Amino acid sequence: MTLRDFQDLIEAQYGRKDTRRGIERTFLWFVEEVGELAEAIRRGTKAEREEEFADVLAWLSTMASMSGIDLETAARAKYGRGCPRCRATPCRCAEPPSADRRRGGGKRPKRA
Ligand SMILES: [Mg+2]
Ligand SMILES: [Zn+2]
Repeated sequence: MTLRDFQDLIEAQYGRKDTRRGIERTFLWFVEEVGELAEAIRRGTKAEREEEFADVLAWLSTMASMSGIDLETAARAKYGRGCPRCRATPCRCAEPPSADRRRGGGKRPKRA
């Protein structure tokens, strides 16, 4: 299954309900699922981590559909030719400062 197949599948399964709920409330569900993933990474079994990764991808996919975004196209356009900043694979950019050193200081670095 490609990412596009998956997005189509999730849209067919949940698109109608998700559209009725609206993207802002759907985003709250997504954030809740990210919290479940955090917990599974910290202390879950492999089966639990698999389930939570799948949930987060499903909610991300549904929001992409609601926004008229094809996730596969967007991901390929940004990351398909190496790191968006240095163009290398693996990335050769300098490691950003750690969270501790950032605290009270500079802005959180984002992916180019
Ligand atoms: Mg979940
Ligand atoms: Zn890079």
